[in-house]
Amino acid sequence: HITAPLIVVSNRLPFVLQRNKDGELSRKPSAGGLVTAVAPVVVDCGGLWIGWSGLHTEEPLEFIPESDPDDKAPTAGLLSKQVIAVHIPEREFDDFYNGCCNGTFWPLFHSMPDRAVFKAHTWDAYCRVNKEFASRTLEALRKSAKELDDQERFETCPVVWIHDYQLLVAATTIRQVVEEEKLRCKLAFFLHIPFPSWDIMRLFPWDDEILQGMLACDMVGFHIEDYCLNFIDCCSRRLGCRVDRNNMLVELAGRTVHIKALPIGIPFDRFVQLAENTPRFLKLAESEKIILGVDRLDYTKGLVHRILAFERLLEKYPEHVEKVTLLQISVPSRTDVREYRQLKEEMDQLVGRINGRFSMPNWSPIRYIYGGVTQEQLAAFYRDSAVALVTPLRDGMNLVAKEYVACQIKEPGVLILSPFAGAGGMMHEALVVNPYEIDKAADTIHRALHMPLDEREVRMKQLRHREQQMDVNYWMNSFLASMGAVNNSDEADP
Ligand code: UDP
Repeated sequence: HITAPLIVVSNRLPFVLQRNKDGELSRKPSAGGLVTAVAPVVVDCGGLWIGWSGLHTEEPLEFIPESDPDDKAPTAGLLSKQVIAVHIPEREFDDFYNGCCNGTFWPLFHSMPDRAVFKAHTWDAYCRVNKEFASRTLEALRKSAKELDDQERFETCPVVWIHDYQLLVAATTIRQVVEEEKLRCKLAFFLHIPFPSWDIMRLFPWDDEILQGMLACDMVGFHIEDYCLNFIDCCSRRLGCRVDRNNMLVELAGRTVHIKALPIGIPFDRFVQLAENTPRFLKLAESEKIILGVDRLDYTKGLVHRILAFERLLEKYPEHVEKVTLLQISVPSRTDVREYRQLKEEMDQLVGRINGRFSMPNWSPIRYIYGGVTQEQLAAFYRDSAVALVTPLRDGMNLVAKEYVACQIKEPGVLILSPFAGAGGMMHEALVVNPYEIDKAADTIHRALHMPLDEREVRMKQLRHREQQMDVNYWMNSFLASMGAVNNSDEADP
């Protein structure tokens, strides 16, 4: 019951295009929760999705294939005419994506400035790519305005929803041109990663352009209030904007921008179903317990600290030797970036050293998977693990923590969570641990392994209730409601 067409603009389309042996294109669906929640809304309202196709081509793609008849993904109903593939030449993409997005913004916004590189040519590529996304969005707005009669044009105000740190300045161009050409639309932005404090943001040589890019929108959303307040502070200090922290408003050039905390959730029911219907994959001895870690192999995830905390556990509490195994799934990520390749080496060595140190003929302390697993396997691992270790050094939200609790459908396990994940601010019933405190983290794991059933049940019940209420559809509806794009009766209850 959305009252306006929704145009989603994100770095990636909600599926990847691939070419088969005959050179024909087909869609490979993406499985993420975001796509699950957003794609059906775009389908329902006859909206559009603008993004890169995942395929490097010499020339812009002339057409997007329709979905396969047996495609069951949420994007299956998205017609080709609802999809716009943005063309980015391969060389440009490298500077934009590996260079600026992942070499500059990712570490900076995660408050790790020592890892950030500031290069004018990658920033220039970033701006050019953002302009290309803006041009494609403007073409779409012009085209849809042309197809309407005067009355419809007066009544229709498309919502353009720009996603994430790859597209921080796209709205600058969109705002400028829609004002010049008097095109109707509302602009919104959502950041999926943390927004840093002014201290960190000011290190970026072009910080004013970033802030102005975000403020070109009517609404800017973040996962949690802390990120909202950081952003408001930066606008006030860097741009001298008038701000209202209580009502989360920022004024720029006579326009008022609404800042909003919209914590993303997961497709809770889907994970419950997977946990209910998937057989056991783990083969464990009678009294053996699994501690689970699931992360992209990224330096923000605190993997090295986590493995050291586990080593400390075995040193300090030898009763867990031969009884407890750490199952760490590390999904390969950004392997084109040097920092990520170095982290892989470091992890390989660390896991090897600890396994060498503690292994017995019939037991090794760490089972380490460098690779992805299927959703079914993942749900079964979540369900069958006694403890989940979610200990990032910094993380926008962290969905693994939420998926773990969704899958606790049998005897509940214990979630150990870092306060430096967005999820840490809300999942109060988890055991909270500072990942930098290795010794304390070992104590916390020990406590989790001994936690009585009744305490585990009380904690998990609350955790699950919250995630069920505030799932990804709730997030989607809250966004639409905050844009005034749904009938009032559809507004999500807090
Ligand atoms: N995930 C996956 N394949 C795997 C392991 C994990 O698709 O082999 C998913 C997991 O279900 C979760 C996401 O990857 O939805 C990770 O999200 P999170 O917010 O925890 O971290 P991010 O990778 O976005 O930084």
